[in-house]
Amino acid sequence: MSEFPGVSASGEIVEIAGAGPAGLAAAITLARAGRRVVVHEMHNEVGHRFGGDFQGLENWSSETDVLAVLREQGLATDFTALPCHEGTAFDCTGKRYRIESDAPLFYLVERGPGPQTLDSALLRQARALGVEVRFNSRLRRPDGEAILAAGPRAADAIAVGYHFDTDMANGYWVICDDELAPQGYAYLLVMNGRGTVKSCMFAGLKQQKIYVQRTVEAFQRLVGLEMKNPLPHGGGANFRIPASAYSGPHPQVGEQAGFQDTLWGFGMRLAISSGVLAAQSLLNGEDYDRLWQRALKPQMETAVVNRALYSLLGNRGYGWFLNWITSHSDPRRQLGHHYHSSWLKRLLRPWARRRFESRRRRRNHEYLRRS
Ligand SMILES: Cc1cc2nc3c(=O)[nH]c(=O)nc-3n(C[C@H](O)[C@H](O)[C@H](O)COP(=O)(O)OP(=O)(O)OC[C@H]3O[C@@H](n4cnc5c(N)ncnc54)[C@H](O)[C@@H]3O)c2cc1C
Repeated sequence: MSEFPGVSASGEIVEIAGAGPAGLAAAITLARAGRRVVVHEMHNEVGHRFGGDFQGLENWSSETDVLAVLREQGLATDFTALPCHEGTAFDCTGKRYRIESDAPLFYLVERGPGPQTLDSALLRQARALGVEVRFNSRLRRPDGEAILAAGPRAADAIAVGYHFDTDMANGYWVICDDELAPQGYAYLLVMNGRGTVKSCMFAGLKQQKIYVQRTVEAFQRLVGLEMKNPLPHGGGANFRIPASAYSGPHPQVGEQAGFQDTLWGFGMRLAISSGVLAAQSLLNGEDYDRLWQRALKPQMETAVVNRALYSLLGNRGYGWFLNWITSHSDPRRQLGHHYHSSWLKRLLRPWARRRFESRRRRRNHEYLRRS
């Protein structure tokens, strides 16, 4: 064994628990470097908990386009990614805010086992590199080298609503209104004849049915939402900045480590980046904690401050916020600043952490808890 945590002589198989974006990104990085990798996925397919969900691969936290970032990380981008330059937001009065950015604000991607999804693209790449993916296989206690990428352990926020077929044109719409999505936002995403409508709520989780119903009604009223064959769908997100992301000798990545965007739940990029970093730590004998703390922690800490500030806004403040974002010539750049650390946000960190931690303690964490 090496003196470094989680590192042993090369040639040994590295086991990975979970074939989500974090686990597959780790597998690809290891396999590209010539390591033998087995990924265990407890379901019979990738992206089982999302099954045809649409999600935004955010493009504002880095100057470089996110697809270029993924390629720089050695990851395939042969999934359908709809560039979203224009969209519409509403405040609680129904006032419309047009969002327009030169570069895409985010890319709409599909999750789940379908041929064009992000999950399937990563799976294809992993297999092409010789990674063995074992479905219906739950990894409990790994013996040798392993990376733990099993997804969220609890729900600090949830996004619930429907998947559906539709004749609506492609696009995205957001409503910031605590009557629809307490301390979060309601959203509608449509891509190529299918869509998802959700209430993404950070409080009031137990009243989710009411909020979903109000969300659907609001989008019907404001943008003429048409749903055919609606299927309920939802899931939780777990936010945590751990002191260490090791579990014993094994790096934890993605949402298993609690790595998420505490402001709005855009966790895919953090999941992928942490997977790549954990793999690099095994390959290079570096301390994984040092790697993620340098690359990801400042952004996650800023997100906690942003969350604390956002949850203070309330319905009046959301209108001000939307105005602030959309009145700038480039909302993408504006959001980018918002996501990056500044002296003021560093100053607010202790207050934000206390506020966020106490909110978490009050919350029911049972949703999606696994045995
Ligand atoms: C409804 C919803 C909407 C979202 N929208 C967005 C969005 O628009 N943009 C964005 O960036 N993020 C979004 N997110 C968050 C994003 O989906 C997650 O941050 C991301 O999927 C985390 O990736 P992961 O690999 O850590 O975990 P997961 O994607 O959850 O993958 C974990 C995998 O591990 C498997 N597993 C669990 N335990 C074991 C075990 N013991 N052995 C083997 N396999 C196991 C699971 O079956 C699963 O396949 C959303 C989340 C939800 C719930």
